[in-house]
Amino acid sequence: MAINTRSSVRIKPTYKQTAPEKKRRSVYEDVVSQFNRAADIMNLDSGVRKILGTTMNEVVVHFPVKMDDGRIEVFTGYRVQHNNALGPFKGGLRYHPAVDIDEVRALATWMTWKSAIVNIPFGGAKGGIQLDPTNYSVAELERITRRFTYALGNTIGPDYDIPAPDVNTNPQIMAWILDTYQSMMPAFERHRCLGVVTGKPIESGGSVGRDKATGQGVVYLIHEWAKDHNFDLSKATYIVQGFGNVGSWSARLMKPLGAKLIAVEDVTGAIADPEGIDPEDLTRYVLENRGVKGYPKAKPISHIEFLRTRADIFIPAALENQITAETAPLLNVRLVAEGANGPTDPEGDAILNQRGIDVLPDILCNSGGVIVSYFEWLQNKRSEFWDLQEVDCKLYKKIVGGYQRVKEAVSKYRVNWRTAAYIVALARLEKVYKERGIFP
Ligand code: GLU
Repeated sequence: MAINTRSSVRIKPTYKQTAPEKKRRSVYEDVVSQFNRAADIMNLDSGVRKILGTTMNEVVVHFPVKMDDGRIEVFTGYRVQHNNALGPFKGGLRYHPAVDIDEVRALATWMTWKSAIVNIPFGGAKGGIQLDPTNYSVAELERITRRFTYALGNTIGPDYDIPAPDVNTNPQIMAWILDTYQSMMPAFERHRCLGVVTGKPIESGGSVGRDKATGQGVVYLIHEWAKDHNFDLSKATYIVQGFGNVGSWSARLMKPLGAKLIAVEDVTGAIADPEGIDPEDLTRYVLENRGVKGYPKAKPISHIEFLRTRADIFIPAALENQITAETAPLLNVRLVAEGANGPTDPEGDAILNQRGIDVLPDILCNSGGVIVSYFEWLQNKRSEFWDLQEVDCKLYKKIVGGYQRVKEAVSKYRVNWRTAAYIVALARLEKVYKERGIFP
């Protein structure tokens, strides 16, 4: 048997506790503070406030996987379901060393607000596995994914909770989840389960336009913002943090508008070229070299230089807490379009407000992904395949609808865009709870 039976295998504590002095900032506390601000201003019903101020279900699984060399490793996976008043739980799965219950709670909660703002019939969830995917082979990642899906069991389902890609997960991983989930179903139920995940490869039931959807949504909204501010995007400069799915697609889709990409930063380093960086060329480079570092057609710069770059638009498309009390004063931009989830912490937010820098908040700005996930789910339900024009056109309508609602709330309540976005989401959820009441 390949199980590690030799006595030399010592068991260390499974639960990786962060040392108190090194404890990371709680992202979930930031979400609660954003939530409370909006709830106070709109005078949210106190019962609804209690319901939405906490998550509904939190599933933590520890599961064993056989590595390529025969060893067994035990992984920790999460699925947090924040709320399903508006529809099935919905949200991505993240594979990253920083995944923990606090982060997943925050991300799940943001998903609830996101779907409510753009008016799609989903609730909010998020999940992931605490690991660094670069440490594992493709075959190992496949077994980890399949075993995680098996461990989740009926926690997910096509009409109950529908995962999708997020940081370090992709269509291939969704295909493995689908296949594993279907294999756990009786044969006659399998085709009904196609919508158990979205963001699948097209051939496996995915939707055209899903891959670029989050970036496309970011760019549609930048376009709306530019119209509202009489701002000529063809002369605009922009900088991007993170060059994964969201960052690279946002950068590439800004190019046809005539805007110029002048600096990019990711986990490997930062680069700049005031004459402009070609996003298509950089995307190819990053695919081959796993990061922007060493890109020969731009010069390397430091993190601080990147943040100080004078540009019109900053698109953060990496992880949480990048715009903070320390970094917000350095920014030299007019607009922050949040492609990432939670890139700005409350102190950073206050500084952006004070400095008059506009913000398209994450729960509106990056909702293009989940919107097209909804379209994929609908296509799966009806066995349809829409073309790209149809997907893009419907995405545009949905996300701009959200933009208009948030804009109205900004002027009605005289608040910033983030608080207004929360108010739009909370008002919808409050209405539903009041109409339905609480069982029993
Ligand atoms: N992970 C993406 C997000 O944070 C997409 C979620 C989905 O499509 O369900 O919005």
